[in-house]
Amino acid sequence: MAIVPLIELGNPLLRQPSAPFADPASPEVARILADMRDTLHDCRARFGYGRAIAAPQIGVLRRLIYIDTPDETLELVNPRFERWSREEDERYESCFSFPAIWGLVHRPVSVVVVAWTPQGEEQRIEASGTLARILQHEMDHLDGFVWLDRNPDLHSLCTTGEYEKNYTSRA
Ligand SMILES: [Zn+2]
Repeated sequence: MAIVPLIELGNPLLRQPSAPFADPASPEVARILADMRDTLHDCRARFGYGRAIAAPQIGVLRRLIYIDTPDETLELVNPRFERWSREEDERYESCFSFPAIWGLVHRPVSVVVVAWTPQGEEQRIEASGTLARILQHEMDHLDGFVWLDRNPDLHSLCTTGEYEKNYTSRA
């Protein structure tokens, strides 16, 4: 287990697609997840934000996501979307790979995601609101996308300082 330096915007690794695991229950998955967990918790302590991390953000181009919110902890191996809602909403997003900038992004309100657990069992997550937003942001990372690619409202872009001054809910 280790805290790993984050890949930042500008590093080509952040813009590359990640490969799936042949065996979701392999020891390699558990090892990478341990690093992701340590790194997320360290980032949260330093930035005051952060509920999820994708493996490419620690420089590992594999399809693995770790989500840790006050409501749930999810470890998603080889996640894929089963469904998106037609209804969309607009929320502020930020990213550990370029944490100084926030912006409004339109995305579907709810999604259904199917993934494996690190124990090798299939899991199906029906998410709406905040969790749906987190899932879509993190799954973008697995395909080499960041929220800036999702056509954010350019006039909404702001620094963390301005975001905290103007908005109470943390997206
Ligand atoms: Zn991100």
